[in-house]
Amino acid sequence: MIVFDHVGKRYAESVAVGDLSLEVRDGEIVIFVGPSGCGKTTSLKMINRLVEPTSGMITIDGRDTRSRDVNELRRSIGYVIQQVGLFPHLTVAENVATVPRLAGWDRQRIGARVEELLDLVGLPPQTYAKRLPAELSGGERQRVGVARALGADPPILLMDEPFGAIDPIARDRLQDELLRLQRVVRKTIVFVTHDIDEAVKLGDRIALMSRGGALEQYATPAELLAHPASAFVEGFLGEGRMVRRLSLITLRDVQLPKPDGARLPEESVDAGASLRDALDAVLRAPDGRVQVVDSGQVIGVVDAEAIREASR
Ligand code: ADP
Ligand code: MG
Repeated sequence: MIVFDHVGKRYAESVAVGDLSLEVRDGEIVIFVGPSGCGKTTSLKMINRLVEPTSGMITIDGRDTRSRDVNELRRSIGYVIQQVGLFPHLTVAENVATVPRLAGWDRQRIGARVEELLDLVGLPPQTYAKRLPAELSGGERQRVGVARALGADPPILLMDEPFGAIDPIARDRLQDELLRLQRVVRKTIVFVTHDIDEAVKLGDRIALMSRGGALEQYATPAELLAHPASAFVEGFLGEGRMVRRLSLITLRDVQLPKPDGARLPEESVDAGASLRDALDAVLRAPDGRVQVVDSGQVIGVVDAEAIREASR
């Protein structure tokens, strides 16, 4: 678990992050989202001490990060950025091997790990291992960046707008792949973006920030969408495509999971309800599921995840 305890970062002229407190639980994807300059990157970099806080404390599994050797700390935390930062003169395999090599693994173990990682990110080693970064597309380079960050199997992965410079279609695919990857590797991931749709798609929880790293709301995507905590959050959500879809599209308009034979939830919602109203009903339902009724017929059962799926 990563805990921010009243963390701040002040520069001579400005306050990048004022007073941030939040917890990131093991195995979840937490998104730092907010407008440009609000302190997302600064907050992220304080976790692996690329930026040192000027106040407060960050702990990982109860240990103050300041008490750790900084190199050892960084090796235990994967880091992925937009301009991947691959070594241009090294092959894909050599790039991915960087951290295991630093950690002193033997050749055989490194070789096996590199193959496993390239497979994991969808780059078959036979095809990609010997290529140079210049011989890859933007999306492929980003996958190598993710493979490299996972090199020594760190429990934590920090990602700073990793898909920001990728075209929308490849970006969508990379997002899907990250979710698939996460089901396999179960890392604790802190992911920075300014794109609310990306946040809603990827996040288990979303930390929505305004200037100075002020935490406007920290909630699941469902809670955030159904109950924005402030006018600022409402305004920021309003820019998202997914949010517009939630308000405009009804349950009748989307593919819903069929009732699966398990006991039907007691609560129901009419098929003419917007996805946003359905989300509200789901959050109020005791077991987080509601049946969808169309002219007296149960046509589906939805939970928050199904609604999120439908709004994509
Ligand atoms: P974001 O990632 O949300 O766009 P940043 O965390 O990069 O925002 O920056 C937050 C604020 O801190 C900005 O106003 C930025 O100008 C300022 N800042 C970031 N790094 C430095 C620095 N090294 N020196 C001075 N100010 C900085
Ligand atoms: Mg940034």
